[in-house]
Amino acid sequence: MRLSQFHLRTEKETPADAEVVSHQLMLRAGMLRKLAAGLYTWSPLGLRVLRKVETVVREEMNRAGAVELLMPTIQPRELWEETGRWQKFGGQLLKIKDRKEAEYCYGPTAEEVVTDFARQEISSYKQLPVNFYNIQWKFRDEIRPRFGVMRAREFLMKDAYSFHIDDASLDAEYRNMYDTYARIFTRLGLKFRAVFADTGAIGGSASHEFHVIADSGEDAIAYSDTSEYAANVELAEAVSPGERADATETMRKVDTPTQKTCEDVAALLGIALTRTVKSVALMGTDAEGQPQFVLALVRGDHMVNEIKLSKVPGLADYRMATEAEILEHLGSEPGFLGPVKPAKAIRIVADRSVAAMHDFVVGANEAGFHLAGVNWGRDLPVPDEIADIRNVVAGDPSPCGNGTLGIARGIEVGHVFALGRKYSEAMKCTVLDANGKAVTPAMGCYGIGVSRIVAAAIEQNHDDNGIVWPDAMAPWQVAVCLINPKNDANVAAAAQALYDDLNAAGLDALLDDRGLRPGAMFADIELIGIPHRVVVSERGLAAGTFEYRARVASEAEQLDRAALFERLS
Ligand code: ATP
Ligand code: MG
Ligand code: MG
Ligand code: MG
Repeated sequence: MRLSQFHLRTEKETPADAEVVSHQLMLRAGMLRKLAAGLYTWSPLGLRVLRKVETVVREEMNRAGAVELLMPTIQPRELWEETGRWQKFGGQLLKIKDRKEAEYCYGPTAEEVVTDFARQEISSYKQLPVNFYNIQWKFRDEIRPRFGVMRAREFLMKDAYSFHIDDASLDAEYRNMYDTYARIFTRLGLKFRAVFADTGAIGGSASHEFHVIADSGEDAIAYSDTSEYAANVELAEAVSPGERADATETMRKVDTPTQKTCEDVAALLGIALTRTVKSVALMGTDAEGQPQFVLALVRGDHMVNEIKLSKVPGLADYRMATEAEILEHLGSEPGFLGPVKPAKAIRIVADRSVAAMHDFVVGANEAGFHLAGVNWGRDLPVPDEIADIRNVVAGDPSPCGNGTLGIARGIEVGHVFALGRKYSEAMKCTVLDANGKAVTPAMGCYGIGVSRIVAAAIEQNHDDNGIVWPDAMAPWQVAVCLINPKNDANVAAAAQALYDDLNAAGLDALLDDRGLRPGAMFADIELIGIPHRVVVSERGLAAGTFEYRARVASEAEQLDRAALFERLS
């Protein structure tokens, strides 16, 4: 690409309305233009990066044996009625009517559509297992779209859905996707962590999120410092990065994991446990009368999650929910939340539409690890009960005897989920097994936030001068900077020749032939994060060298042609 023929428009000033660094830099580099809340035009530069991410995701999905298709963004209401999600999905679902008053939604995810496809296409166990994926735009009417494409309303997702004759086959594909995700994020050059997610709601290892580790992340991850264990602690949404930093600090101070029996915890909360009632929850309604659940699942040995609903602004009228209500609620959460197997562990359910709340959770998964998080409400004092719990949980070593829990912040970039038969059953998708008997296939689903990855990568890779792209994501790998193109035809010809040779050698090269002053040109090339820069100048040509500088290096070096190609290969 010759930059003079491209469209690049950079800005020096940091835009005032962009809170996090990735959003700031994407705007400054001219990768994005905002159209409306949570809606962005990807400029030619932004699109190049998005396509690079997409390519890595596609190549690795293909390598893993998944098969690509393309489903529409607009989905008919009837399909969503079959699974009950037309009502249950909630406010994130954008509903649309056509001229005949027929109702549709803009797909926030595609379980219904893919299951409809499968029930028409797949009739025999011989066609299984199969994993269909597409890379397609999604729309979710997020309560607080923010941080640019990090939490947008329209965003690009790779979503895959697998179908299986039995659970063993689903388990194998789940593992395969887990490994594939690890490969994808490694190839993209990201520091990431796979964490247990929603373990209370779906149990065991059936759901993992992949998080890019970054201080600006919206999620808190509790991890053991000596084992592989990590789990997601979802945070209420209405907190700014500064407040989140405070909350994280608070969590660090109070999070001393310990093992408490459910009796201890229940006694503290004044909850009466019986043999049959092992889980309790508070249920309330918000100002619009929508149910808001706050959950205290007490299972097996230990767990409590208590939120003082009565003190949450906008919430009125709360009572204990029945287990059936809790499960109903959990099973109807948007996104990749699947069927509920509550016996395994705990999950905190704090509806994100509740703006401020106190929250405290101590929990365990089956491996015996514990999480604790506390109090990220904005204005509310810590209730005594919570302070009490804090005292009780503080001061024991780690119950598992396996390290200490730390809290890191993460950006959810991927999610793998063993769905089971929730959708196939609801939509009457069956296949004939080896004995000719109709059986309901098990399903898995696997999402990657392709557009969110672009922002997450910048959160992890930037410096004072701008973006520092990992190689796999860079819009171009190497920029050839031509000094004074008008003054010296030899220099221009040499730069063009080098640029051609680099491309011929398989490097994605950019020729900056805009004729800018070196300072302005280099600032742009740094801002947009090109990993390698080569300057072609009269002086260099006379000496038989090019000036080479890696984006991450502090100094430039003079290399001859062979050394340059060596360096770039
Ligand atoms: P979050 O917890 O951030 O709201 P989610 O759990 O609702 O995400 P999933 O349903 O798991 O999202 O969707 C799969 C992936 O899509 C997520 O892991 C994330 O990377 C991406 N994603 C979800 N919502 C958004 C959004 N509003 N903007 C950009 N990417 C998103
Ligand atoms: Mg979400
Ligand atoms: Mg999530
Ligand atoms: Mg998710």
